[in-house]
Amino acid sequence: MDKVGVFLCTGCEIGASLKTDGLEGLAKKNGAVQYAAHPCLCEPAGVATLRCAVESGALDSLVIAACSSRHKQQEFRFDPTKVAVERVSLREQVAWTHPAGHEDTQMQAEDMLRMGIVKAKKMSLAKRLEEALDPTVLVVGGGLAGLEAAKAASAMGHPVVLVEKTAKLGGYLAGVREVTPEVPPYDRLRPSPVVDLEREVRADARIRVLTGTRLLGISGQPGQFSVEVDGSQGREQFKVGAIVQATGARPYDATKLGHLGYGSSPNVITSADLDAMLLKGALARPDGKQPQRIVFIQCAGSRDKAHLEYCSSECCGTSLRQVLAIQEGWPGVECAVVYRDLRSPGQLEHFYRAVQDKGRVMLARGTVEGITGDAALTVSIHESMLGETVDLPADLVVLATGMVPNSADGEAIRQLRDAKKRIEKNESETQVKAAKEMVASLAAHEGTEILNLTYRQGPDLPVLEYGFPDSHYICFPYETRRTGIFAAGAVRAPMDPAQATEDGFGAAMKAVQLISAAGRGEAVHPRAGDVGINDFFLTRCTQCKRCTEECPFGTIDEDAKGTPQYNALRCRRCGICFGACPERIISFPDVSVDAVASQIKAIEVPEEDEEKPRILALMCENDALPALDDAALRRATWNSWVRVIPVRCLGQVNLVWVGEALSRGIDGVILLGCKRGDDYQCHYIQGSQLAHKRLENLQETLTRLALEKERVLVAELGRDEMARIPALLDEFAGTLEEIGPNPLKGF
Ligand code: SF4
Ligand code: SF4
Repeated sequence: MDKVGVFLCTGCEIGASLKTDGLEGLAKKNGAVQYAAHPCLCEPAGVATLRCAVESGALDSLVIAACSSRHKQQEFRFDPTKVAVERVSLREQVAWTHPAGHEDTQMQAEDMLRMGIVKAKKMSLAKRLEEALDPTVLVVGGGLAGLEAAKAASAMGHPVVLVEKTAKLGGYLAGVREVTPEVPPYDRLRPSPVVDLEREVRADARIRVLTGTRLLGISGQPGQFSVEVDGSQGREQFKVGAIVQATGARPYDATKLGHLGYGSSPNVITSADLDAMLLKGALARPDGKQPQRIVFIQCAGSRDKAHLEYCSSECCGTSLRQVLAIQEGWPGVECAVVYRDLRSPGQLEHFYRAVQDKGRVMLARGTVEGITGDAALTVSIHESMLGETVDLPADLVVLATGMVPNSADGEAIRQLRDAKKRIEKNESETQVKAAKEMVASLAAHEGTEILNLTYRQGPDLPVLEYGFPDSHYICFPYETRRTGIFAAGAVRAPMDPAQATEDGFGAAMKAVQLISAAGRGEAVHPRAGDVGINDFFLTRCTQCKRCTEECPFGTIDEDAKGTPQYNALRCRRCGICFGACPERIISFPDVSVDAVASQIKAIEVPEEDEEKPRILALMCENDALPALDDAALRRATWNSWVRVIPVRCLGQVNLVWVGEALSRGIDGVILLGCKRGDDYQCHYIQGSQLAHKRLENLQETLTRLALEKERVLVAELGRDEMARIPALLDEFAGTLEEIGPNPLKGF
């Protein structure tokens, strides 16, 4: 951009903190064609000054030197297809946090202004995507969450196609007579909700139900998915805009629970077996006799390292409702529930008390040591509340088995397919041997595809360790690692019917929101409203595949030669590909590798004898930067050597920037981002993880340049750690002071 206007706000203590007289000269010297200072830029008169300047056509980009970009977004919002905007956070990073009138404070503000202007000059205008989109929502799975999602999407005016692989709708709950209560006083069972829901869905003219139907393939991108199915109606293809996967869960395989007596006596059954009995209005052992003493065993397979490590969440509720159904239908039958912890999340606590109050149930805490006998069973419990081993007689034992998601591991299937291709290629004996081993280790994933995506990164959603499709568990529970595909119900996380109902509704809302955002050419979460898309300068692409492999959202496919094929509507704008590309040929309209490198060059690095070191802080805009802003709001202070450049994600950091900073004499570089690992907090899943990995490779470069490894630090920080962030910056400054100035200063 060559028509940069700089607008300085002198309100909110900025004017009192700085000598503003020389800033106009600085702005003009660095290429600004217009400069204005205003006592309160966000008030109507200030905003009018900005709008006037833009509408006059004299400017194509604005540098707003005022508050943080996280504030006053309405006031300083301009159409990014008409004008580029760069915000310089003088209020939070200078005026509120550093001593007024101090030489270092002034130097900091001047650096920041130069950095803002150079960035604005390197920006370009965004082009809004204008694509024809299909408003249809595809729901995969006809259980409770799927039915609810279909009903909700239709109620929001969207056509829906509901695909169910079996011949019936209703999922697991079609085989259940009653479920736990959902409304106060939470003391009585309610009929299985899927009966009414199925009736409503089938009667809804906007919903097309395809039972006994398999997905043969899904290609394309949000708003433009192309779906092929095969069912009783034959093969057909149609378009959809978004997808909700609600394929539910299945009970854990009880044949693996021999230690709890399953298989050793026909009178040890599962909660699913008991549900089937209760549906028929019967309560009988396999020999036809009515049981008189039933013992329920909780956590059968759940919270057990040898089986399912997680809590299945709803099995305690299931046992309680089965106890209540037995108390009401067969009042003479005694029930006991043996548990380690009886978990009744949310309002189910009331239900738990109601079941307890109705009497004739013994709720016994303890660990099951063994189950012996056949017709007359004995359940031995230790670590009980009585502090000794207790034997409970039973003539029927019900194992409250956990739930296993009905998902497919997209990543594992991709690896399996790749290994098979390597065997076919038969390139070398060693390779074929390794590929065969891979095929053997992944054999369990053969034929497990559900969505059959044509994505380069695999045909199904990637899953977490326990098979639940990955999502950001704190901020974006329904989103998966494939944009436009949402997970809902028990396939997403263990849950009870009330939660599954909410989940179906929530995922439908996200699907509808996505279609609407895609129609405006905008990204969804977390950069909601961003219209800028990636630009790949492919003539310089070396087909290294780093971008295709590292994109966490499967956005980029490849052609036969390995050249990236970018699907803009799948992109979340995280910039991880941008950080990965060794050729530095990926950019967004508002940021490029070159733009940030130029910002780094715009930092004035004082000579060594001036004893004014410089620190570059690359901060994630989702957690670290908001934490820094909050620290500023509390008037915290931190070392004035720090110069902050916000990034979309630490995964966006291209190592070139670190090299550039150090070779220019900047004394240290700190990267501040989210927690990585299995309980990651990264909004883009693996950005923080990738930053750590890439920086490990940087150590070799540091050694080559004879620089200490302590000069580069990656720190993990939570959004709420506003008290820690100034301390982290100060500690890093202390370390740099100890190791001394960067020896490359002045070269
Ligand atoms: S910006 Fe992020 S989501 Fe988009 S292509 Fe790059 S890595 Fe993938
Ligand atoms: S990372 Fe860069 S060079 Fe490598 S394939 Fe992607 S665009 Fe091409």
